[in-house]
Amino acid sequence: RTDKKGYEEAQKRLKMAEEDHKKILPELRKESRRNYLSKREAEKLEDLEAEIADEEYLFSTDALTERERKELEYKRNLRDLAKDYKKAGAKEKEERKNRYYMPEEKRSKDIPQREMELELEMPMEGGGEQGRWEEERLKTASLSFGAKKEREKGLKAEREKYQLILEEDEMINFVSSAVIMKGTQDEKQEQAALSQAEVQKQSIQEVRRSLPVFPYREDLLLAIQQHQILVIEGETGSGKTTQIPQFLMESGYNDGGMKIGCTQPRRVAAMSVAARVAQEVGVKLGNEVGYSIRFEDCTSERTVLKYMTDGMLLREFLTEPDLASYSVVIIDEAHERTLHTDILFGLIKDIARFRPDLKVLVASATLDTERFSCFFDDAPVFRIPGRRFPVDIFYTKAPEADYLEACVVSVLQIHVTQPPGDCLVFLTGQEEIETCCELLQERCRRLGSKISELLVLPIYANLPSDMQAKIFSPTPPGSRKVVVATNIAETSLTIDGIIYVIDPGFCKQKSYNARTGMESLIVTPCSRASANQRAGRAGRVAAGKCFRLYTAWAFKHEMEESTVPEIQRTNLGNVVLLLKIWQSWYSPGINDHLGIHYSYCSVTLLIFPLSLPFPLSLNYIEYKCSEEVLTIAAMLSVNNSIFYRPKDKVVHADNARQNFVVPGGDHMVLLNVYTQWLESGYSTQWCYENFIQFRSMKRARDVREQLEGLMDRIEVEVCSSGGDIVPIRKAVTAGYFYHTARLSKGGYKTVKHQQTVYVHPNSSLFEEQPRWLIYHELVFTTKEFMRQVIEIDSSWLLEVAPHYYKNKE
Ligand code: ADP
Ligand code: MG
Repeated sequence: RTDKKGYEEAQKRLKMAEEDHKKILPELRKESRRNYLSKREAEKLEDLEAEIADEEYLFSTDALTERERKELEYKRNLRDLAKDYKKAGAKEKEERKNRYYMPEEKRSKDIPQREMELELEMPMEGGGEQGRWEEERLKTASLSFGAKKEREKGLKAEREKYQLILEEDEMINFVSSAVIMKGTQDEKQEQAALSQAEVQKQSIQEVRRSLPVFPYREDLLLAIQQHQILVIEGETGSGKTTQIPQFLMESGYNDGGMKIGCTQPRRVAAMSVAARVAQEVGVKLGNEVGYSIRFEDCTSERTVLKYMTDGMLLREFLTEPDLASYSVVIIDEAHERTLHTDILFGLIKDIARFRPDLKVLVASATLDTERFSCFFDDAPVFRIPGRRFPVDIFYTKAPEADYLEACVVSVLQIHVTQPPGDCLVFLTGQEEIETCCELLQERCRRLGSKISELLVLPIYANLPSDMQAKIFSPTPPGSRKVVVATNIAETSLTIDGIIYVIDPGFCKQKSYNARTGMESLIVTPCSRASANQRAGRAGRVAAGKCFRLYTAWAFKHEMEESTVPEIQRTNLGNVVLLLKIWQSWYSPGINDHLGIHYSYCSVTLLIFPLSLPFPLSLNYIEYKCSEEVLTIAAMLSVNNSIFYRPKDKVVHADNARQNFVVPGGDHMVLLNVYTQWLESGYSTQWCYENFIQFRSMKRARDVREQLEGLMDRIEVEVCSSGGDIVPIRKAVTAGYFYHTARLSKGGYKTVKHQQTVYVHPNSSLFEEQPRWLIYHELVFTTKEFMRQVIEIDSSWLLEVAPHYYKNKE
């Protein structure tokens, strides 16, 4: 009471503080709040502490009135409470850090590298080289692959057994200069892991429990509960795709019939994981657990967990713009950055704002997750600690001229010189894979009983699903499995038991030239990130080896750091159209900008699962040939897999194909094939006799039926031109008027860009050279080829697309 002014001041502040605190306290107690203080609350706490300190400094306790003492007491309690919250929050934050981290925390993304000056040769037949190899191996004990002794013994025995099976000049010289992929397992676990053959005998539930994601079940569910959007990062094979949706199912995310959706960039992956999960859950595929890919819907009313391609979810946006029937959407394999996934990111971010109940999970292999977090407004990243064994990387000493041949040799080399363990080969596409498998089988046949059994299994997108399933079946003892795969095995599918990876370093990549409108699918070197993912496949169940069929120099200097996202190298036409349609739900009128005939067409576009121009052809009802156009559309959708050309019957196959040729062009040939097949009663035998792939035809039939159903839904009558081919070609022209090429002096030139192009040698018009052509697609392989062409009359262009051609001629 000595300082009256100071006292009054303090009284005033006390009063104000009291008002404030009355407001904060309930807030602090609110249960739904997170357990630590917000910035504002932390500031309040500081103020409070200062006030208490002031008062304690100014007044001795006895000098205070009863009321003042109570007030001070109250403040102290409040302070302690806030401090407790702060402590609890900090503790939880610390704990949380170990489980998942907030993006502001930097971390090193690099895989620890261990450079070693060590020249290592693959084991060779005949004394010197082999001896040196083994010596080197023993010296470098630090490489320790677990059961070393066993391996040595095995090697020696095998060497004796297989001596002289491969000629020395057939062998490839590999050098290893580094163990670049360090494992995360210690020696003991490694030993245990080596007996992973037993894993296959475990029950499904045991296998589930053994996956890296399993111990994080509760943490993960808690994180999902706390955050609307969560990025999940984990090594391939840790159980992201198969387990997380099951966790969600088990904890009520399907209540009220809500669905969980999980996207995959690849059809095969969607089918394969759905099958696996149905098996794990113990239901029939297509019931509670199903999948949906283009032209194939394996779901039902009961389906609550739906795997699908990213393109299918994108289409669902058109019928359900807020994805109202989903409680969780998982964008899986986000690191692949496919066009559809990228577009989904944008749309989902948008709807998440007005659907706070929707949970969004972005799952990715250990690549670039910070970027996803950043895109989704700093969403937290949940890291599933990996399980990876060291992988030895070998390079070739010199570039390999023929990587296919090099693959074959490497597989055999591994088979006869390396300890047990399955082998995975990365090639670029179906054709290569089939050739490789044939070569391998043939050489194995030649070697006969000199080598143990080698099971050669292909995996690529168009492989029938029963064949796909084979890659997962356990390898019988005493034999070795070699899986020859496309990129699909890079991160989408995990095959247990792989110890050896052979990586030629190539992949097939789409690229698009916006100026010329040329799309091409070219075999290009893959990126370093890809190569490292591939190598990682060898270290999943035990220490492994990766044989790169290129030099270490090429790896460092000729490969890109990472793959360019598809959105930067593809034709965006269809996606832009799709987005416009989506937008038009919200702002009608946008259609006017599209400059296309649009009456009932928008509805058509919405429901037709085809590339977009075809429905436009159907729109030309006046040509009265929807019957034929439907068939052509269906046949084009299975495109290049109709004619079958086995290597030993090339002449027969070509003759058979020639027999289908009719005037007008390739579209008409396709129509002819389908019609004849229909007349044969959809016969398998007929296909066989005519070198037609039954599987493709069956698919075309499914597509056609689906399209016909859709026509029915939009109440368009299906009618035939009755054998007149002009209306059919006009209708196609109506859809593809901007895919025109004209014969000029130097060959064909596209009308749009004056680009020089060629008729594909497979085309029925290859030798005809009509003046005007419509092409279905432009592809660059060895040259700029037009694939699937029809002959047209230039006057049709003015008739079907006056808005486009009026001013051009
Ligand atoms: P991630 O998505 O994290 O890469 P997955 O969930 O795909 O991992 O795989 C987890 C485990 O499930 C792997 O060990 C894999 O071998 C197994 N698995 C996945 N699909 C199949 C299948 N179709 N058949 C047998 N096992 C499978
Ligand atoms: Mg996965």
